[in-house]
Amino acid sequence: MQIGGISKYVIEIHTKDDIVKAFNFVREKNLPFYFLGAGANTFGTDEGFSGAIILNKILGITEIPDGEFNVSGGEKWDDFVSFIVERGYSGVECLAGIPGTVGAAPVQNIGAYGQEVKDTILSVEVFDFKTGKFKTLEKAECDFSYRHSIFNSNERGRYFILSVNFKLKKGEVEGELYNSLQRYLDENGISSRDPKIIAEAVRKIRDSKLPKPEEEASSGSFFKNVYVSEDKVAELDERGIPHHGTKVNTGWLIENAGLKGKDFYGFKVSDKAALVLINESATSYSDLEKAVEEISKAVEEKFGFSLEQEPNVIGLEQK
Ligand SMILES: Cc1cc2nc3c(=O)[nH]c(=O)nc-3n(C[C@H](O)[C@H](O)[C@H](O)COP(=O)(O)OP(=O)(O)OC[C@H]3O[C@@H](n4cnc5c(N)ncnc54)[C@H](O)[C@@H]3O)c2cc1C
Repeated sequence: MQIGGISKYVIEIHTKDDIVKAFNFVREKNLPFYFLGAGANTFGTDEGFSGAIILNKILGITEIPDGEFNVSGGEKWDDFVSFIVERGYSGVECLAGIPGTVGAAPVQNIGAYGQEVKDTILSVEVFDFKTGKFKTLEKAECDFSYRHSIFNSNERGRYFILSVNFKLKKGEVEGELYNSLQRYLDENGISSRDPKIIAEAVRKIRDSKLPKPEEEASSGSFFKNVYVSEDKVAELDERGIPHHGTKVNTGWLIENAGLKGKDFYGFKVSDKAALVLINESATSYSDLEKAVEEISKAVEEKFGFSLEQEPNVIGLEQK
């Protein structure tokens, strides 16, 4: 997002030994700490951080028979997707093009075009900063749901994710595809269900809608989609608010509150995807806070839904 201050310490983790050393370092100095991957979904406050950022740089992908893969947390997520689809496996093709690391993927249970990373995760290898021990968390222990896991809720800041174990399926992509993806395939005369071709299609759609991190500063979708309870779905239809089951099209809410393309304190509501905020000229976290407040207020006043921020803020919620 190109905002925020400076961190007192940054510790790079390249091996399992490094994480033990980092743990001892922050404990001895009694420092607050923050786990970071590529920082695609994280920013800092203007005051900076008086503790240690613990940066995941562990690399390596190990193929285990029967479609199982152990992938180190510092690997680039999109490189892993390419690696998988090249080998003819399906299960993560709709998550192509998502910036960031493999180690961060379980944290908010990354998702796109109807797929979520939880669908292919078997277990997560972690180092526990509460007990100082290595541990394997089975999928059921991670409590995954939409943009949620134990890693960004009850146990935020406790487990450093070293690697993730995946189970992929060999062969074509099965089942119904997400509407907008299927529409793109139809419009482009693509009938193949080869995971590599689907991943390419997803990348093309994303390129046409989402800012490229290296060209425009953003954290992807800034606001989470709003979910309503089952008994409120009919009401959405009556009010003409588009939704996918209980998931409200929150980009539509922002757009229809008249905010798309508008500038707030240097942050622009993307004119291609209204959930995305692009930093055009802002230099401070406090500008972002003001922008978020105004956007949220406008949506709340018009539609009665409160928006929730997706990205993480260093030092605010994790000590
Ligand atoms: C242009 C753009 C498009 C995006 N599109 C999508 C999308 O379609 N779907 C989607 O779900 N997300 C999307 N995102 C958000 C982002 O890509 C994901 O959240 C991604 O997982 C962030 O990876 P990262 O390595 O940069 O994580 P970071 O920003 O470094 O960290 C994110 C969170 O994970 C924690 N964390 C990171 N590494 C570890 C670790 N090793 N152990 C424990 N905790 C850790 C951090 O403390 C933080 O809370 C998008 C972002 C951008 C900029």
